[in-house]
Amino acid sequence: MSQIHCFALLAEMNIRIIRIMKIFKVTVYEKSGTLGGQWNLAAVPPSKQDFTTLVAWQRRQMEHLGVEVKMNTEYTVQMAKEERPDVIVIATGSREKMLPLPGLDAENVFKAQDILSGRKTLTGKNVVVIGGGSVGVETAAHVAQDFKKVSILEVRDGISLDGEYSNNYFLFKILDEFKVGVHTKSFFQNYDKETGTVTYKYKEKEYEIDDVSDIIVAVGSASNQDLYEELKDTGIKIVLTGDAKDVKQGIRNIEESYYLGWSL
Ligand SMILES: Cc1cc2nc3c(=O)[nH]c(=O)nc-3n(C[C@H](O)[C@H](O)[C@H](O)COP(=O)(O)OP(=O)(O)OC[C@H]3O[C@@H](n4cnc5c(N)ncnc54)[C@H](O)[C@@H]3O)c2cc1C
Repeated sequence: MSQIHCFALLAEMNIRIIRIMKIFKVTVYEKSGTLGGQWNLAAVPPSKQDFTTLVAWQRRQMEHLGVEVKMNTEYTVQMAKEERPDVIVIATGSREKMLPLPGLDAENVFKAQDILSGRKTLTGKNVVVIGGGSVGVETAAHVAQDFKKVSILEVRDGISLDGEYSNNYFLFKILDEFKVGVHTKSFFQNYDKETGTVTYKYKEKEYEIDDVSDIIVAVGSASNQDLYEELKDTGIKIVLTGDAKDVKQGIRNIEESYYLGWSL
């Protein structure tokens, strides 16, 4: 029987197909104590709680199909060399980017995922979100519901341009209801930690937001290919999928992994 090693949630679609068609023995390694990766954070913002059902469904599918799941287990080159599976599917996800701009090294500057996960807590009530993509806007809505004053700075001429229509409909209603300030075509310039002032540029003029207690940065993510780089010369067949291959919506990752499963 062939062996295959996978990581994380979205690889599970492969597993299903692989088991049915070729009867691989499949093992999933997850370094944290929770399956589902970022999808668990996608379920945190308002009106997205149903997202949790996908993870529950996939967990059940793995049980039915006899997939072995090793939680709290970081997959390493050492393990690959010892076990030498036929294929290693790498779905190690992505990491949020930070902007190298003045003032963003302060303690009250957070990444969106730190706030959505509850790993970090906001210090006050006047929050600026840098980045108005879907993650920034969803995080702004999540925070605004906690009665914070929230302003979004976005360089493009619209917010949540990558978001789905139906989700945006509910999100924009929340932004309206909680009077979230939306500043498009606005470029963050710097944060003065002493005065708590954020400066941004709009149409060549500088504007300020005063008494800022916290900043949340949501400017996209970069693929985590560390393990892929370490494994690619071992002679074992290695395939990349999900955000680890290129950062995109989870729904696209599931589709990609589904077809990858067929191709193995
Ligand atoms: C706030 C937010 C909202 C979102 N909303 C949507 C949405 O509405 N619709 C949509 O389609 N998508 C959405 N997404 C995107 C979606 O969540 C991601 O595209 C998807 O979760 C990426 O899946 P992945 O499995 O590739 O990576 P991840 O979810 O990042 O999973 C990677 C996993 O690999 C594990 N790992 C890493 N290294 C190792 C190792 N060496 N050994 C073992 N395990 C390891 C990590 O612990 C993690 O669990 C959202 C994302 C966020 C953050």
